[in-house]
Amino acid sequence: AKTAGKHRFQFYEPRMSDSLKARLDMARALQHAIEYDEFVVYYQPRVNTSTGELVSLEALVRWLHPQRGLVPPLEFIPLAEETRLILPMGELIVAHVCRQLSLWKEAGLPVVPISVNVSPRQFNHGNIKALFATRMLQYQIESGLIEIEITESSMMGEQEEISSELRSIRALGIKLLVDDFGTGYSSLSQLQRLAMDVLKVDRAFTSELGKSEEGEVFFRAILSMAHALGMTVVAEGVETATQLRILQSLDCDEIQGYFIARPLPPAEIPRILQKRFLI
Ligand code: C2E
Ligand code: CA
Ligand code: CA
Ligand code: CA
Repeated sequence: AKTAGKHRFQFYEPRMSDSLKARLDMARALQHAIEYDEFVVYYQPRVNTSTGELVSLEALVRWLHPQRGLVPPLEFIPLAEETRLILPMGELIVAHVCRQLSLWKEAGLPVVPISVNVSPRQFNHGNIKALFATRMLQYQIESGLIEIEITESSMMGEQEEISSELRSIRALGIKLLVDDFGTGYSSLSQLQRLAMDVLKVDRAFTSELGKSEEGEVFFRAILSMAHALGMTVVAEGVETATQLRILQSLDCDEIQGYFIARPLPPAEIPRILQKRFLI
């Protein structure tokens, strides 16, 4: 590029203002979506690796956009985090999940816990404990039915504050899961000190199983340490029978992935609650 010189307003180059405008439009649309609750929560099963029993359902949000249809979370969660719209959006999602659980319970279905994703921003700026406690009380959801998924990076701030926040959430009886484990830099002893119950090993490691030694070596090491520390291990993103067989032979506790089931709309869950997965 040439030196600025007279072109002092090169900042307003059309391409850039277009993308800025697109982001502003998107933020406005997101605000509208929150106001009118245009969100739908899908649920993906997590199952016991040896029995195929349904252990839990992960709540995964989608935006039902009036023109664009179903928008996946990676297209709006990052902007929601930057603009802090993730805070009111997160409240809506917790309300959705608790309402859904109470409806399934009223219908007499054998409900299982639901895990809710909480992003770093929510963790640092929102009162997570109050957010969950309020809705759980409103919908009379017992604490064993709610789990929270947080990434390692959310836990990287002030250790004292974080550990007291985590302890108070756990005091409600809510299970804590480490999401995308292996992509950050936390040590297992650190996570155990923070009273994390479950490690969800990132899909990147699962996809190596059967292809290279690496994935298997990683799982073997994590499993032996996690089990010694009393933590449960989940493999994320299981897509093939080969991956499943290896995870069974390694004694990985639980699995999640397209090979078992994709994230499903609420209407398809009652059928799932009453079956055991054949694995
Ligand atoms: P995540 O928490 O790591 O969720 C797992 C993602 O992997 C989901 O994508 C899921 O559909 C996908 N997945 C599951 N099994 C497989 C598989 O076998 N193969 C492949 N290729 N993918 C699989 P999704 O639903 O698009 O969500 C993406 C991310 O958006 C989530 O990653 C999470 O970080 C975020 N997210 C979703 N819902 C929420 C929410 O309610 N709140 C917050 N804060 N973040 C959310
Ligand atoms: Ca997750
Ligand atoms: Ca994950
Ligand atoms: Ca992720």
